[in-house]
Amino acid sequence: MKKISILIPCYNEEKSLTLLYPELLKLMDSQPNYEWELMFVNDGSVDGTLQELKRLRASDPRVNYVDLSRNFGKETAMLAGFDYVTGDCMVIIDADLQDPPSLIPEMLGYWEQGYEDVYARRQSRGRESWLRKRLSLLFYKLLQSSSRFDVLQNVGDFRLLDRRCINALKRMRESERYTKGMFSWIGFKKKEVVFDRGDRVAGSSSWNFRQLFSLAIDGITSFSNVPLRISTIVGFIVSMLAFVYMLYVFIKALIWGDPVQGYPSMVILLLFLGGIQLLSLGIIGEYIGRIYNETKNRPEYLVREYNGEEVL
Ligand code: UDP
Ligand code: MG
Repeated sequence: MKKISILIPCYNEEKSLTLLYPELLKLMDSQPNYEWELMFVNDGSVDGTLQELKRLRASDPRVNYVDLSRNFGKETAMLAGFDYVTGDCMVIIDADLQDPPSLIPEMLGYWEQGYEDVYARRQSRGRESWLRKRLSLLFYKLLQSSSRFDVLQNVGDFRLLDRRCINALKRMRESERYTKGMFSWIGFKKKEVVFDRGDRVAGSSSWNFRQLFSLAIDGITSFSNVPLRISTIVGFIVSMLAFVYMLYVFIKALIWGDPVQGYPSMVILLLFLGGIQLLSLGIIGEYIGRIYNETKNRPEYLVREYNGEEVL
């Protein structure tokens, strides 16, 4: 019998879990031809999520949980899940029921047909501010034009991955993770299903603009060197212009002499060049910071307990 794992990263989801679990039960009962494994990753929740998971596991041995030592963020929580799931395939799903479990049978159908990565594209995005939608659109445009593969828009982490994909993802152990890019990077046979994304059933989204912004920077820097190239190109153009201006100033001084003048042009040049230099340094800094983090080679996450057993 094929085994299906469902991976659910949870951060402060005690209320959502009581609503999610019955839905998952319904799903598992409707598909008796598979063996099921629910893999909850408790990402350092500060509410009763862990107690709720323990309670669920006591009554249903298909419930498994990994308890991380602190909040590592969804990207890392998912990596922990990749390491712990044992299924022939895995479905990643949010705990807040924004990804409908009712879509999973359709995904399984495509998996049985041989597709290795069945991803869900949302037709509507639920309640989100206009600004957030615009910014997300801009980000995807940027990423699209700066990397060599497609990172799909309106596709989240809700997807079914074959064991092959799971093993591939497990080998990508970078610490600045942008999992959405990784799904594209690994390739394999992909298939799209569409759904309507609803609103959160309980709790609140834990992402704020700052986090989304830094995720966007992670996304671009971990999959593309284009910002570095842009700073090279801008540097090149600016120095060409500077050279031309230098000739102009030099020749002018030769012909007309050089009474002290030109304070405005001096200030403009100084500020302009200074700005470009700082910007370029900033871009280089982004990459160096990432190199620094990767070379530390720390474990990506730490586990306190797995299914009630302490992990030492
Ligand atoms: N999540 C997590 N760690 C975090 C933040 C979120 O594991 O630090 C989980 C969260 O419990 C949920 C999923 O990631 O299952 C999506 O989070 P959220 O609903 O806050 O994001 P959104 O739907 O707004 O993108
Ligand atoms: Mg959500």
